[in-house]
Amino acid sequence: MKFHSPEQEKAYHQALKHKFKAMAFDIDGTLTKLAKITIPSRLLIKLGEIARQIPFMICSGRDIDHIKNKAASINGGSKNFFIISENGGATHSYDSKKNSYTELFNIPWPDKIITSQELTYLLDKKLPWKIQVKSRDHSIVLYYPPVFYVFPTLIVHLSKFLANATRRIIKKEGYENYFDVEDSGIGTIIIPRESGKGKAIKRLSQYLKIPLRDFLVVGDMPEPGKNDAEFLSGNYGTAFSVGNQTHNTFPLPVYNDHGKKLRGPEGTLYLLNEIGIAN
Ligand SMILES: [Mg+2]
Repeated sequence: MKFHSPEQEKAYHQALKHKFKAMAFDIDGTLTKLAKITIPSRLLIKLGEIARQIPFMICSGRDIDHIKNKAASINGGSKNFFIISENGGATHSYDSKKNSYTELFNIPWPDKIITSQELTYLLDKKLPWKIQVKSRDHSIVLYYPPVFYVFPTLIVHLSKFLANATRRIIKKEGYENYFDVEDSGIGTIIIPRESGKGKAIKRLSQYLKIPLRDFLVVGDMPEPGKNDAEFLSGNYGTAFSVGNQTHNTFPLPVYNDHGKKLRGPEGTLYLLNEIGIAN
């Protein structure tokens, strides 16, 4: 077990003793292996158990329809079940009576600066490759043609490359103060500055009247410019990473009994078996 500072070691042991009152999870690379779509069955069972006990959130850069399908396998009619889509763009709550989702909050696109369609058109024109640029309600996503996703390690590098190219265009056009460009490891997502997974967690913390310190948040992309940088900063709950680490106290790493750092869904399941839940 290796911590990069005494503060991190202390925070890790405190977290393992804490009883959490809400939990939030990234999907890609956290509940599923990166560039894979299925949640391993043991993890799925564990998530279902938690979702029946405390408020449960899944948050992703993907859109609500995609996440709904994934959520259906976890959510066995739980009351306090939330979906944060488009990296914070919209937050939906599950209505168990109607078996449907209702929107709680959303972050409007800043049309006065540039509409989503205009920015999509601009990027489509400026990006030199066969990049797909798609405008959604609260974000723009950029990704490669499907064939590239056969090679998970390759796509991680290409994704970083795409995010940097997109950032350069946004900056050159004078929009860098209005948008965040985030690398999700499988593509790029552009969101309004006011949006973000972390800010969505903060809104839910106020809505549910549960302090942020009682939130456990788990993701895999905490480095600057990646899509969990804000979410796993430690400012929006007790953060663990099952991907890379940063030089900060948070996110905390996940170690097994032998002191080995665990990654992806394996790390998430291990953590959930170790961590306490308030009852
Ligand atoms: Mg991820």
